Amino acid sequence: MHHPALIDVIAACARLRGHVVRTPLPPSPTLHKSCGHEVLLKLESRQTTGSFKLRGATNAVLMLDPGAATRGVIAASTGNHARALAYAARAQGLRCVVCMSELVPANKVDAVRALGADVRIVGQSQDDAQHEVDRLVVQDGLSPVPPFDDARVIAGQGTIAVEILEARPDTATLVVPLSGGGLAGGIAMAAKALQPSIRVVGVSMTRGAAMHASLAAGGPVEVRELPTLADSLGGGIGLANRHTFELVRAGLDEVVLLSEAEIADGIRHAYLHEQEIVEGAGAVGIAAVLAGRVRSAGPIAIVVSGRNIDMTRHLRIVTDETSRDEYPGADGILS
Ligand SMILES: *Cc1c(COP(=O)(O)O)cnc(C)c1O
Repeated sequence: MHHPALIDVIAACARLRGHVVRTPLPPSPTLHKSCGHEVLLKLESRQTTGSFKLRGATNAVLMLDPGAATRGVIAASTGNHARALAYAARAQGLRCVVCMSELVPANKVDAVRALGADVRIVGQSQDDAQHEVDRLVVQDGLSPVPPFDDARVIAGQGTIAVEILEARPDTATLVVPLSGGGLAGGIAMAAKALQPSIRVVGVSMTRGAAMHASLAAGGPVEVRELPTLADSLGGGIGLANRHTFELVRAGLDEVVLLSEAEIADGIRHAYLHEQEIVEGAGAVGIAAVLAGRVRSAGPIAIVVSGRNIDMTRHLRIVTDETSRDEYPGADGILS
């Protein structure tokens, strides 16, 4: 299997210029104080559509051959990938179909429709939505753009590592949210090709960490999906995983798992100390450093991956003054 490599990431950097935001990398004095190393925040939460997923989706869209571009793109997704693909397709004047199950809340459907996508509501599960994708790929010749296990998508996410190391070649440790592994796999592959001594730490939630379980098992396994504040980190890695499992296994030095209370602390810290609105998945890197779970020999760069959180929930989390002991599970902050 030919995995994406640094050359693909460099090509993606050139391709994405002018299409995605080169996000800022401000220092965090409070996290510096808490961990003893300089800490930099790569704010993909300020990326267009509210997450880094625009990089991979745009890279995939820009790599379509003219015939495929005319027919359009398709994905099964409820979250940040759907928003990103809808935006990237519309920016190029292409058709975009997004399949979702009947269980997806109306606000998520509306957000993707507002970006111009043709949203199809089918069935009762993500599997049903994926079957509809497979059907339309055959029937209409639409090009599938998967959320993580795709060489074009992985190369797009890897551009984040290039931007960080261009700005701060002295970065000793990268801290990256981890779910399907397009983000962490792409970043680790590119960062280690550029600077072999760098450490890359992946961060997931304890509740349903599919990649972590797969690494432990030595191959892709399924885990039960549980509600979590880091909802963008939910879901499996695919039993027929082609790229991300290997890239993550080869590229990550460590995976840190966080409790719901720790993730809430990360969201709260981002708001109260960094003045940033960040979703649960986006806050796990901050949360890991705050919790003292990241060792480093020098400057730490944290990928803050997204901001798409329900603002009522965000308000409840950031104003909560109760102690972490009152969050045994996720109840109360998840409803
Ligand atoms: C998709 C997503 C992730 C995880 O990315 P993977 O490539 O699936 O590991 C992390 N944070 C946010 C905000 C996301 O949308």
